[in-house]
Amino acid sequence: MGDTRIKYYNRENECSYVEERMERQFRQFKQDLEFAYNNCEYYKNLFGEDFNIDDIKSYDDIVKIPKTNKSNIVNIHKSKYPFGGMLAKGAKLKRIYISPGPIYDPEGDVEDYWNLREIFTNVGFVEGDRVIDTFSYHLTPAGIFCDEALKSIGCTMVPTGVGNTEIQIQTLKNLQVTGYIGTPSFLNMLIKKAEEAGYNWNKDFNLKIACVAGEMLPNSMRKDFEEKYNILVRQFFATADMGGIGYECYYKSGIHFSENRLVEVVNPETGEHCAPGEPGELVVSTLGNRTYPLIRLGTGDLIIHAEDECGCGRTSFRIDKIVGRVDMVTKVRGMFIHPGQVNELINKFEYIVKGKIIISRENDYDTMTFYAELAKDIPLTETYKDKILNAIRDIFKLKGDVQFVESGFIKDDDKLIDDQRKWD
Ligand SMILES: [Zn+2]
Repeated sequence: MGDTRIKYYNRENECSYVEERMERQFRQFKQDLEFAYNNCEYYKNLFGEDFNIDDIKSYDDIVKIPKTNKSNIVNIHKSKYPFGGMLAKGAKLKRIYISPGPIYDPEGDVEDYWNLREIFTNVGFVEGDRVIDTFSYHLTPAGIFCDEALKSIGCTMVPTGVGNTEIQIQTLKNLQVTGYIGTPSFLNMLIKKAEEAGYNWNKDFNLKIACVAGEMLPNSMRKDFEEKYNILVRQFFATADMGGIGYECYYKSGIHFSENRLVEVVNPETGEHCAPGEPGELVVSTLGNRTYPLIRLGTGDLIIHAEDECGCGRTSFRIDKIVGRVDMVTKVRGMFIHPGQVNELINKFEYIVKGKIIISRENDYDTMTFYAELAKDIPLTETYKDKILNAIRDIFKLKGDVQFVESGFIKDDDKLIDDQRKWD
């Protein structure tokens, strides 16, 4: 792999002091706010007649501006097709994509509109890479926006699109393709099918880098890609409305946010900004978009962010963990709990095969019980139970109980947190 793939799109900005970035982004954000208010009917209505830009004096004040939830975009568009008043007056469009809903995603006629150049440079694509792009080239923007960004940093694109496994494998081999764009599971399938067809992956193919998105990348799969097949694997985070949001650098210590996205992590109850380590909703704004500015888009993703410096020297916020969706958060005795914590608890104990938490209420008091199914033939000791109780306290910052259950009690499609409290 080698360090020739350690790249910086704009090292000065990416490694600047946190305060410097905040100031730089905040300045741009204020201009965007003014632009959106004056040019997009939707924001004019949303912010209201009394809106005064001078009330927004600092990054902390941003929370006063109303959020637009991603889950609501479909209704906003529907209220007045095609873009529900979110498109800026006089914007020139290059393409319009169609996402389920339908939501119409406009593409401005602007260089690097989707903000993916920074992302693909920083994950490690280099000039001369020959890349298959296995995302769809029609309806949604994924195929085309990756294609254009990679082309613009000097890669040669092979637009293979979705499916056609055999042609993809043939192309990978005959063209000695060095780069892959797509989902991790599709890459995994290509490797497995190639091996079934009798190829020796490391000898017959030349794939050096894969940039994946669209689904979870299991650790075991990543390990295989990297160690068994010698592919540098990096994840990136992009959406059909906003384009590039974040990426993993060479040090893969979480998802760095792009310099061109103003990011907030917001407490779902109070609406205030969260401290690092505290789970909150990821709220993102585009910066400098004069076509379809997205101001405080609530993604619905519940994340935990880190802000310590990464090994690469970048100082941006990073997604440490995606812990679930905002609508999956439950409050117990004043504390938020989320499915990510239940997974953490299960994974901490080798002998726990399945688990879930049931919240109920007794004598006006919330109770939290962890139901655990253990692997067969594990002798149950008090110490084991105590260890689990301690782990519950550590992970949830709450006292809870544990119950061991027979196989079959926890179904595969059970929710990780089952809130059985009745409020009447
Ligand atoms: Zn980094």
